[in-house]
Amino acid sequence: MTTSTSHITHWIAGRAWTGTAERHGDVYDPATGRVTGRVDFAGPDVVDEAVDAATAAFGGWRDASVARRTGVLFAFRELLHARRDELAALIVSEHGKVHSDALGEVARGLEVVEYACGIPQLARGAYTEQASTDIDVYSLRQPLGPVAIVSPFNFPAMVPMWFFPLAIATGNTVIVKPSEKDPSAANFLAALWREAGLPDGVFNVVHGDRAAVDRLLEHPGVKAVSFVGSTPVARSVYEAGTRHGKRVQALGGAKNHMLVLPDADLDLAADAAVNAGYGAAGERCMAVSVLVAVDPVGDDLVARIKQRIATLTVGPGSAPGSAMGPLVTGAHRDKVTGYLDSGTADGAVLVADGRKHAVDGDPGGFWLGPTLFDHVRPGMSVYDDEIFGPVLSVVRVPSYDAGLELINANPYGNGTALFTCDGGAARRFQREVEVGMVGINVPIPVPVAYYSFGGWKSSLFGDAHAYGEDGVRFFTRGKAVTQRWPDPSHAGLNLGFPTNS
Ligand code: NAD
Repeated sequence: MTTSTSHITHWIAGRAWTGTAERHGDVYDPATGRVTGRVDFAGPDVVDEAVDAATAAFGGWRDASVARRTGVLFAFRELLHARRDELAALIVSEHGKVHSDALGEVARGLEVVEYACGIPQLARGAYTEQASTDIDVYSLRQPLGPVAIVSPFNFPAMVPMWFFPLAIATGNTVIVKPSEKDPSAANFLAALWREAGLPDGVFNVVHGDRAAVDRLLEHPGVKAVSFVGSTPVARSVYEAGTRHGKRVQALGGAKNHMLVLPDADLDLAADAAVNAGYGAAGERCMAVSVLVAVDPVGDDLVARIKQRIATLTVGPGSAPGSAMGPLVTGAHRDKVTGYLDSGTADGAVLVADGRKHAVDGDPGGFWLGPTLFDHVRPGMSVYDDEIFGPVLSVVRVPSYDAGLELINANPYGNGTALFTCDGGAARRFQREVEVGMVGINVPIPVPVAYYSFGGWKSSLFGDAHAYGEDGVRFFTRGKAVTQRWPDPSHAGLNLGFPTNS
């Protein structure tokens, strides 16, 4: 057993911070429960240092040619691809998810880097010749300045990569504030940027908690904030950031429903519910947490899911045989476990109890096996709250309409899925459901990099979704130029309002 812990600190202006932090946080290996690292927490002074570095780097990076910026992005893409396994192992060690899942997270981040490599095409303006006589009009998209990215624990590499490739590609400079629970991935990415040739100060990392975020939100040098986390924090970040005049996109929590119609392929639906409900121990914002079974498929579906749950190996993310790892911290595991008691007390039927699931790992790890509740109803805490753990709730409904009504009444609107063999029902669902990301026989419909990611209602505050065209727009400001190169015929006074002629 090793007792040494790593020291994780900020990355500012191309190097590790050398100061002495007043506050720190513990970083755990969730599979053993042991503290493996100590992360420095930034106060306002360290945030200011990072913003100063980002501000100093902005002029040079904004003026770097598109060809130069693209060259750095391609180099970063190559390095990230070559070292994806190392990054995945780092994620596993602090987050706990299984290695293949961590590799998947890196792959989905890489997609956005690859999309951003196309920035010459993506950020092009438009040009209208002869909009008026001898007058041409064209548009430009220009960067904002230093931008902040505040990310959650559940995707320590992918979520920052939803934002920074496009922020950097469009000429901004970046300050990332990762989750204090798994901070090392951001430092790994910072070192790759440096190796890729990104000028110092374009990509900075400050670690910490609310104190660091609050300073980023009020700092006049920060022009935009991309936040991902729980809904109460997303809402307050949106309000504080916009109050300080910043552009803000704040993605919040979720309660994703999967609606299963009686004509669905029930084996496919059961596989999907298990994969999307328990993958990453349910710690995904696109996890399926509510299965809505339209009568009469409930009993059959529950039986198939129960059967599959029994085959899942729960163990360390680093073990090749593990299907599901531990939860991120002991406190989170205890909170999630509390729902097993409250669900039962509220009258839901506990079909599979995760506390009793065999674990192939260190007893000190933050384990909770897959849990299934049946006969769940709105008003029960297992339905109303975002649990963010391996707890799947089955709600029975009499019809498609009742299922749709349930989903649309939910305050969250991140992702949803419909399982059916009926194309007409699927088409109706995609039109009628009030959710930002919809899967038809696809349980975790995370859009590819050239579409945008974002929920509706309490799952997103602001109007810009992440990455895709929305990402390009979010990190740039539009400018329209109306141009005339006068010849002598334009001389003369005319105080009238200009009109087209
Ligand atoms: P969290 O809200 O606790 O923390 C997110 C970030 O905000 C972290 O960097 C944290 O340090 C910081 N933070 C925490 N409290 C703060 C406060 N009071 N003021 C300012 N900053 C604060 O979220 P988490 O537990 O790290 O992540 C899980 C949550 O993120 C879940 O609710 C999940 O649904 C959500 N999430 C949403 C999406 C999405 O795309 N909508 C994606 C991933 C995760």
